[in-house]
Amino acid sequence: MAKFAECDAVHLVVGELASDTVPVGAFQYFGIRPGKSPLGLHYKCPCGCGDVGTLRFRHASDSRPSWEWDGNVDMPTLKPSINHRHVENGVLTDEHWHGYLTAGKFVSV
Ligand SMILES: [Zn+2]
Repeated sequence: MAKFAECDAVHLVVGELASDTVPVGAFQYFGIRPGKSPLGLHYKCPCGCGDVGTLRFRHASDSRPSWEWDGNVDMPTLKPSINHRHVENGVLTDEHWHGYLTAGKFVSV
C-alpha cells in the first residue's frame, strides 16, 4: 500500500468520506451549527488505507484529546500533529501515518 508523505487536504462539502471515489487526504467537518465553529473534522487517512479518522476541535474545558483549528475552512491548519494508528485493548496494533495538517496539506514527519 502506498504511503503518502504529503497530500492535499481536500475539503469534501457533499458526499461520503469513506467512498472509494473520495481521494486520500479528503476531510469533512462535523458538528456544523449556524453561527458557530464546527466541532471537528473527519479525514481520510493520508497513508492510503481508506480509514477515516476523527479530530475534535479544542474547547476551553476539554480534557479529551483535541486539536486547535485556525478557522480556515478550505485550507485548515490543526495543532498538534496527527497520529493515525490503531489501538486494540490498549495495545498499539498498527501505525498508519504521523504528520501535520498545515494550510490544507497533510505532511508526514
Ligand atoms: Zn491509514
